[in-house]
Amino acid sequence: MTLLKIAHVGHPVLRQRSRDVGLDELRSPEVQTFIDDLVDTMRDANGAGLAAPQVHNPIRICAIEVKDNPRYPYKPNIPLTILVNPVLEPIGAETFENYEGCLSVPNLRGVVDRFCELQVTALDREGSPISRRVRGLTAGTYQHEVDHLDGKVFLDRVKDTATLTTLAEFDRYHKAAFVERIVPFIAKWGG
Ligand code: ZN
Repeated sequence: MTLLKIAHVGHPVLRQRSRDVGLDELRSPEVQTFIDDLVDTMRDANGAGLAAPQVHNPIRICAIEVKDNPRYPYKPNIPLTILVNPVLEPIGAETFENYEGCLSVPNLRGVVDRFCELQVTALDREGSPISRRVRGLTAGTYQHEVDHLDGKVFLDRVKDTATLTTLAEFDRYHKAAFVERIVPFIAKWGG
């Protein structure tokens, strides 16, 4: 197991568009080992997801997994998912307000708008096609990770900077109201 160094906001690697990964490259031992390390790093940091540029590798690969996450105890679990060259298309125009945080933006959360439902097209780590719909908070997590591949961080989407909060102040002042709002949302959207 190798833990990779996580880039923090301000590092240029987080601000460039990551490049597509070819099939031969994807199946190479180097990239397969990199994916293992990306997953280990995500789990070690208790992330709900981690995109390759966040560990200084600007290629279009991200990992997503939620398993009783202590950073986000209200999040529905998501099985380990590796997305390669993902494309997200919103289904419908409905959005929700999500309180997001990011391993590349330490100790900060803020409210962003995310689409409630998406069509996801990507490759898995073996290069087989993925085509699926994701909904609810899970759709928010997908949008957050794919934003990283386009050089965006959640801060770019925070419309009201007055919602920005440290983790301690989130727990103290915002968590209860957010959980009260998001629990029925999760029940409605099932994700
Ligand atoms: Zn992030």
